[in-house]
Order: sequence, then C-alpha cells, then structure tokens
Amino acid sequence: MTRTHTLGFPRMGAQRELKFALEKHWRGEIDAAELEAIGAELRERHWQAQRDAGLDFVTVGDFAFYDHVANHIQLLGCEPSRFDFPGDEPELSRYFTMARGVAHEAGHEGCTHGSHDSFALEMTKWFDTNYHYLVPEFGPNTRFSLASVRLFNEVAQAQKLGHPVKVVLLGPLSFLWLGKEKQAGFDRFELLESLLTVYQQILVRLKWQGVEWVQIDEPILGLDLPEAWRNAFERSYWQLARSAPKLLLATYFSPLSENVRLACQLPVAGLHVDAVRAPAELVGVADWLPAHKVLSVGIVDGRNIWRTDVDAAFARLVPVAAKHKGELWIAPSCSLLHVPVSLEGEHRLDAEVKSWLAFAIEKLDELRVLRAALDGEESAVEAELIAARAAVAARRSSPRVHRADVALRLARSVAGDDRRASGFAERQAVQRVRFALPPLPTTTIGSFPQTSAIRAARAAFKRGELDATAYREKMQAEITLAVRKQEDLGIDVLVHGEAERNDMVEYFGEQLDGFAFTANGWVQSYGSRCVKPPIIFGDVARPAPMTVEWTAYAQSLTRLPMKGMLTGPVTILQWSFVRDDQPRSVTTEQIAWAIRDEVVDLEEAGIGIIQIDEPAIREGLPLRRAGWKSYLEGATRAFRISASGVSDRTQIHTHMCYSEFNDILPEIAAMDADVITIETSRSDMELLRGFGDFRYPNEIGPGVYDIHSPRVPTTDEMVRLMRKAAAVVPPANLWINPDCGLKTRGWPETEAALANMVAAAKLLRSEL
Ligand code: GLN
Ligand code: ZN
Repeated sequence: MTRTHTLGFPRMGAQRELKFALEKHWRGEIDAAELEAIGAELRERHWQAQRDAGLDFVTVGDFAFYDHVANHIQLLGCEPSRFDFPGDEPELSRYFTMARGVAHEAGHEGCTHGSHDSFALEMTKWFDTNYHYLVPEFGPNTRFSLASVRLFNEVAQAQKLGHPVKVVLLGPLSFLWLGKEKQAGFDRFELLESLLTVYQQILVRLKWQGVEWVQIDEPILGLDLPEAWRNAFERSYWQLARSAPKLLLATYFSPLSENVRLACQLPVAGLHVDAVRAPAELVGVADWLPAHKVLSVGIVDGRNIWRTDVDAAFARLVPVAAKHKGELWIAPSCSLLHVPVSLEGEHRLDAEVKSWLAFAIEKLDELRVLRAALDGEESAVEAELIAARAAVAARRSSPRVHRADVALRLARSVAGDDRRASGFAERQAVQRVRFALPPLPTTTIGSFPQTSAIRAARAAFKRGELDATAYREKMQAEITLAVRKQEDLGIDVLVHGEAERNDMVEYFGEQLDGFAFTANGWVQSYGSRCVKPPIIFGDVARPAPMTVEWTAYAQSLTRLPMKGMLTGPVTILQWSFVRDDQPRSVTTEQIAWAIRDEVVDLEEAGIGIIQIDEPAIREGLPLRRAGWKSYLEGATRAFRISASGVSDRTQIHTHMCYSEFNDILPEIAAMDADVITIETSRSDMELLRGFGDFRYPNEIGPGVYDIHSPRVPTTDEMVRLMRKAAAVVPPANLWINPDCGLKTRGWPETEAALANMVAAAKLLRSEL
C-alpha cells in the first residue's frame, strides 16, 4: 500500500487570512491571543484539507507566523543577544522584533531584501525560490537550548483533533548552513555538536508525545557542500537516530548527485527525494536505498502550478515501486509553500488555462488519484484519470501554447542577433557625441513615488470606474510632474517615473501573449508579504507596443534625454510561474524577442536611452555550480537579444539590485550594456571594488544612496562614496544615481535627496 503525505502546506490561508491578521496585530488592532487563535484555526483548516485528500498524515511544524527558520531560531534558543530586552518580553513579541526590527522599515518591492532595519535579522532567499527566510546568526557565544514549546503545542493541537501526525523539522546541518557567522574568523560548523544535543532533546520530546514520524529536511544535500559538511551527516544522524521517532530525511530542489549514496545510507527510516527536479536519479535511489527504509517520491511538482501528467508520473513510479522492496510514499516534490492554495474562486481565469492548473489543494487530490492507480484501484478514480489525461493532452496541443510565428522567429535567429553592431568603445564614442552629457552624469533608476493618488487612480481604472481617457490624463499629469521636478533638480537623464505600473513584471505580462493572471494566486514572499506571480502558459509574443506611448509623451515634455524603462527577459521569467513543457531558456529567449521589439519601437519613437532592468539575473543561478555556465550563457544571451536590435547611437542601460556580483562579473560584462546601475551604497561602495579589479569595461552607475529608508543623505556622504568609486573605476565611466527605484518613497525626501545628489555631482565635476 502506497502512502501519501505532503512536505508542507501554504500557511497564509486561502484568503491570505494570516497576512491580514498579522498586519492588524502589528498595528495594535488585535492582541497576541487573537492572532494565536487565527493561527490555530488556519492550521486546523489546513490539516483538515490534508485529511480530506486522504493523506496518511497531517504535517505539523510547517506553520509559522513569519518564517519557519525564525521558528527554529526560537525553538533552538539561539536568538541573537540584541533581542534580549530587560524584562519578560513574550516569545511572540521577541519573534516579531527579530523579524522586523524595532522601528520597522517596509521592504521595497522588487528588491530581494525586505526589512532594512539594522536591528532585524537579515533576510535572504530560500534556495532558488522567491521565499525569504530570516538568517540565523552564529558566533562563538552562540548557545543552543530547547527554548520554545510552540512546536509541541501544535503537535498536541493536531493530536487532539484526532490526526495522525508527522512533524517537520529543518535538519541541523541545513539550519546551520543557512545561517551566517557574525564574527570574522569564526566557523559556524564548530557549533554542530552543541546543536545536535538540542535536536536530540526535541526528538525525544516528540517521541514522548507519541509522534511516530519526523520529516527532517536537509535540502543542503542538493548543494555543492564542503567535505567537512558532507562528512558530518553520517555521525550527526547516528547521534540523532538513537532516541528519535522514525526519521524521514527530506531533500528537495536539486539533484543529490554525489550525495545519493550518502543520503541512502544515513541511519534514518526513510528518504524523500525530489523526482521533479531530479527525475534521472530516482532509479539510482531505489537501487541504493535499503529495503527496510521508506522511499518517499516527490512526484507532484511543488514549485509550479501545472497539473501532473499522470502517465509520466506512473512511468517514473512503476519501475521504482518494482525495484524498491520497502514501503513507497508519494508526495509533492517539496513543501507546497511555494504555490497558491486553491483554484477555487479563480473565476476570472481563462477556463482553458485553468483546466491545466493545480494549486496546493488540487495537488493533494492528485496524490489521492495517483495512489489509487498505483495500488491497482484505477476503477475508483477513473473519472479523475480521464480528466487529468484530457487536460494534459489539451495543453500539449493547444494553439495558444504553441505558436508557429514564435517558433519560427527563434529558429531563424542567427549568431549575430545577440550582438550590437559595434563594440563598446565605438558605441561609447558615438553616444558621447550624441548626448553630450557632462562627466558623472546623473540619473535615477526608473520609478518615482507611487503616491496613494496614483494607486487609487489605477485601481479605479481597473474597476472600470475611471475611463481610459481620464486615466491617461491622470497618468500624464503624474509624468509631467516627474519631468518638471527632474528638470528643476538638474538631473541629466530623465525617466517618466513608472506611475502607470503596478509591478515591474505584471505590467509587461499583462500586455504580452502567453501570460495569464490569477485573482488569488498568492504565494508568501516573506512575513506577511505575498506575491501573485503571473503564469506563463504559452509562447510569448508582443502583440503591440507596451510603453512607447508613455515614454514618447514624457520625451515630448523635455529636451533632455528621456530614458525608456523595460523589464528584462530573465527577470520576467524568474518572477513568474513558468512552463514545464520546454526548457526555461527557450521561454526566456521568447520573452527576449518580445522585449527587443519594444526596444526597437522605442528607438523609432526617438528614445535614445533605454534601460532593461535585470535585478533577477543573480537569483536565477542554479543551486549547483555545474549548472551555472549554461544558465549564465542563456541569461546573458537573452539580455543581449533584447538589447541588440538598435543602432550604436542608442544607449542601453541595465539595472540590478543588491547582489553578490563578484563571482559573475565576466557574465555581467558579457551582457554588454552601455551602462549598468547597481545597488552599492549599503556595501559602502565595497561592491564596486570587484568591478574595478575585473576592469569592467563599460559605464557604471554605483548607487550613492539607499532608497529603503526615508532618510535624506547629505551631499558630503555621496561625495565621499563617489570618491571611493572613482578610486576603483575610471571616473570617465561613472554615473551618479540612487541605489534603486524610488516608488516606495515620498516626494519630499525624494526631492531633497536628489537635490543633494545633483550637488554632489556638481562638486565632483568641478574637481575634474
Ligand atoms: N525600474 C525599476 C524601478 O525603478 C527597477 C526596480 C528594481 O530594480 N527592482 O522601480
Ligand atoms: Zn533595484
């Protein structure tokens, strides 16, 4: 008999109940007890959904009021000491302080970091997902202890409801790996022994509570690990297994590769592998895994929203079932945290596209059907199997998915399509003559404050309360305002301000063929913040210009150069749910051609400078180094395709938010943008050093001030940063700009900051 389970379930609630409750609590409108009650109710509902789908266990421990890693920090008693306030601050309130800082500063949409308060824990992406976790901090003084009973209470809650419980814990090695040393010279690996002691206590306590199975997540087994870390697995798990309930070691997101044998041989009762990301490994795992162990196959894609191809799933599962003599479990590939809750209520969604999808609830039901068929009870699920096969077949042959014109365009592309006509030096010379900008030209990254008036107008337009003419006039008025302000400030290269854009991906997706949008397809990004990624279901093409009218209007208001503003192909892909029926690189290239059309049209409309934002290039890197090269080649090629349809006279900019650039500098250079603007101020310009050492050839605008805070930077500060920049990069190649877009700021601080920035540029120019 096959068993079914899930590695985790979305915690926000189908209507984002948790988000709204959290925000009420933070505003002081509901107290901790009310918030706890809402959390308990959500857990209860989510467990019931798991029972309704016939899962053999409900999963306990996946719930969190902010982030599951933060829960572990409290469970393991390793909150950094700066959160020790005098007096008895309740656990939950310390938890939120740790997550949000004391004077919380709202995160900035689009950037990969949220809270920028020095007090809060740092936040970073959970593997290659768009979920952010709070980074544990480790130092020589870190001590662990079993410090929270929250998990045990949740177990008791589920047991009281009569559910068979499987607890999920983040494994000790992954927990340690995902944290960060806060002291130079200290290696967090040294903490392993003391950490294991507390894990043992937790496991003993769970056993004592009557928990039969604990799913212990060690996703780092899918990473390139240092030898010492790999070697630590065996002894750590020997130590843990001693007194523990049955352990199901869960891995996901990438192939185990050199760790297959290690994972199979650890002294645990079962192993979960991701058969969606690493299908080729499955048979090897079935070979290596001893028969007395449970093999849990992650067969339903937990990272994407497509309905499972049941026949492909059987084709994978049947040989494994034959080979593995022990118990077989089936599950989603990873936690369902990364998909929306349910398709129910998606009335706006195109019916055909909807029939191709499965969100969390539907995925649980797929497990029920798969299990029945595997166990020889096909007849009981005949109708479901027919529907599943029909949906997959329809999607495979739909003309909305496959377009001959798009395929032809890619097939016809030739070697030079991703190259500008001339090399950078020649383009630079032509552009210098054309634009006659002063040295150290000033510009901004694109967006200006998204005031409540702008958002209200956009919402009214969407609801049909504001007609197209009235809406256009309102947006044009905003553009005019932004242009006048920039002219008055003395900025050299202007932007229109992006007032008409809700989001830098959605805005383009809505105008491109091949994209669909859900009404309620929210996925947690961090804390209470959710995103609603577009769904790329078909070949991508651009039926009509997307930004030309707004940009040309903005250019008509000024004699200064107006920079056109686009989102790049990699970023559009990265922040969407993508097709699983063709390689990501093909979809990226299709988007690249659509963006290229827009770039060409902008040039034709007289726009001489065009920025193609690619903040997501770095985060798209595969988890294993072996995949980097081909990913980066595809990503940089896609960018160049989008940028290379124009003449040498047209200046292409790109922009990236804060990221670790140093190990991908050759590829950033290979993008061959005439100008790149990057977020650097919070690294005190240190980030630029790598560009200097690498002798990055093209022009660079290192951000001179942080846009996450309303604080107005002084002219002196920015002069100092630019002097640092000029010491590592030739001043003739430098631009001056803020770190990122200004949409989350208000006008007063924006104007004050930009005035100081322009003053800094003038001062520096006078020294040249
Ligand atoms: N052009 C965008 C803006 O200014 C860039 C946003 C981003 O880098 N995330 O808002
Ligand atoms: Zn940015």
